[in-house]
Amino acid sequence: MSKKKFKTEISQLLDLIIHSLYSHKEIFLREIISNASDAIDKLKYLTLTDDDFKTLDFEPRIDISFDAEAKTLTLSDNGIGMNSDDLDACLGTIARSGTKNFLNNLSGDAAKDSNLIGQFGVGFYSCFMVADKVTVTTKKAGDDQAWKWVSDGRTNYNVEESERESQGTTVLLHLNDNGTEYTNRWSVEQLVKKYSDHIAFPIFLEFDDSTWEGEGDDRKEIKEHKIEQINTASALWKKSKSELKDEDYNEFYKTISHDTEEPLMHLHTKAEGTQEYTTLFYVPKKAPFDMYQADYKPGVKLYVKRVFITDDEKELMPVYLRFLRGIIDSEDLPLNVSREILQQNRVLAAIKTASVKKVLSEFKKIADNNPEKYKEFIEEYNRPLKEGLYSDYANREDLMELVRFKSTEVEGWTTLAAYKDRMKEDQKAIYYITGDNESTLRNSPLLEAYKKKGIEVLIMDDEIDEIVAPSIMNYKEIELKAVNKSGAADDLKTEEDKEKEKDVEPVIKKIKDVLGDKVKDVKASSRLSDSPSCVVADENDPTMQMQQMMRAMGQADMPEIVPILEINPDHEIVSKLKDTEDKAIIEDVSFLLFEQAMLVEGQQLKEPAEFVKRLNRIMGKSL
Ligand code: ADP
Repeated sequence: MSKKKFKTEISQLLDLIIHSLYSHKEIFLREIISNASDAIDKLKYLTLTDDDFKTLDFEPRIDISFDAEAKTLTLSDNGIGMNSDDLDACLGTIARSGTKNFLNNLSGDAAKDSNLIGQFGVGFYSCFMVADKVTVTTKKAGDDQAWKWVSDGRTNYNVEESERESQGTTVLLHLNDNGTEYTNRWSVEQLVKKYSDHIAFPIFLEFDDSTWEGEGDDRKEIKEHKIEQINTASALWKKSKSELKDEDYNEFYKTISHDTEEPLMHLHTKAEGTQEYTTLFYVPKKAPFDMYQADYKPGVKLYVKRVFITDDEKELMPVYLRFLRGIIDSEDLPLNVSREILQQNRVLAAIKTASVKKVLSEFKKIADNNPEKYKEFIEEYNRPLKEGLYSDYANREDLMELVRFKSTEVEGWTTLAAYKDRMKEDQKAIYYITGDNESTLRNSPLLEAYKKKGIEVLIMDDEIDEIVAPSIMNYKEIELKAVNKSGAADDLKTEEDKEKEKDVEPVIKKIKDVLGDKVKDVKASSRLSDSPSCVVADENDPTMQMQQMMRAMGQADMPEIVPILEINPDHEIVSKLKDTEDKAIIEDVSFLLFEQAMLVEGQQLKEPAEFVKRLNRIMGKSL
């Protein structure tokens, strides 16, 4: 016998689950049944693919029984089972990544946290809401030794050798006061119907039935021990759409996703013809917890003729659609398809291509017909869709209609199409500005001339925009231009501007002499109206934000690429600088023009102390 401590996160998590999920305590049954179903899926797959298991006599089933007097509830499956290492790994730690992350994200608000738990999928531990002791007796398929795991769900668990006739797992719950309501036929049946009706395997309930026979004094109770199947046990996705109600879809979603909330949408497709398959996709209301982790868990399961094949295949859907949950069930793949073969399988590739198109066109439908719902969707998934813009070239046109941007002209989100409609008659491009802070961007001097001329600029404050926006290049043959790049403002240039450029050449020379290689160039600007100066990236250089991002991503040795300084020929400071020959003033003012431009772009100064000295000198002189 070995007594082991839970990993710390688990104790914390257990506490949390017990308290915050309490209003949904009944879901423990769904979670245990869904684990049992997964375990059967896994064994079934082995019997099809692994010679060692092909001869196994195996009728998949899940059994539930209860004892009201002993206050116990027992769930048993004949699935793959666990060995002692599995028990440690699966029930002693949280097998999922991101546990810490999850705990750090807790808000203390029970309703919100219970959603987090749902997304996180802590499954098994939910049984400690209704039990003060849980015994798991299990034997792994192919092993001789069975094991028993016992815990009160607090700090310790024991694993010891045990007995079990054949492979599978039995979970015995010693119910606490919150759990005793589940020791009767009706409540168990009702819960199974509600949450687990479409689990693909039969669920049997064992109970004592009593009927009365005879009349008057002869009347007597006849007790009978019964075992009845209590679920439909048909794959929900195989039913026709007309047979299914939203509730059916939603409940099924909860069983496959561990989410406690309803999904935002579902999409059920049956394809017939050259290829036969069924897909059922869901979009969770809240983005899955691990969406931005490299080791995210894929949410789409693959079935072949209703037999589960895998739930751990990232290639089933493109990475940018990793938030999708659901099922692909193919009639054409061989049942014993190996996971290695799956990755280059043509049947699967065709299903993937068609599914992506279908899913994107469903998003478009929602965007067109239900803006409220689409807004909810965009708040969660705009970013992965943008990833699609540069990773899924084949669907770029569609994705361009789906992504949303902030803008100087409208509140909330806008589309590229709507921007195009609002364009001025002689406007040559779609303009955007990138950076990491919305209000810095909105107040950027780079926008001054656009504002003055009434030209709309898209505000791109999402980190990923730095990469996505340049990759778009054109929208319906209109070029996209970054206003924080040197070339964009050429469009705005008038004859008058060109004359002014000549005018300020001497000033530019003065500034260049002072700043040297701190800037790539100094130019007269046609985009400024109130500010004296601004910095932009040269046409083919990465913007400063982009450079920052690349350094944050570990490219520390990236050479620093300096910006171009633009000055406003109409500004008082610039014209006064033209007239002065005082070397000290020229030097201070040149630096200050550069440094203030960096500051308004949200950049950090290399020598803040020098900046302050310069500022103080100039203030002293002006007083
Ligand atoms: P999840 O099911 O989301 O992975 P759980 O906490 O419910 O999280 O279960 C943890 C792991 O324990 C499962 O992934 C599985 O490997 C194992 N497990 C749980 N129940 C069973 C069971 N009945 N048979 C076999 N393995 C199980």
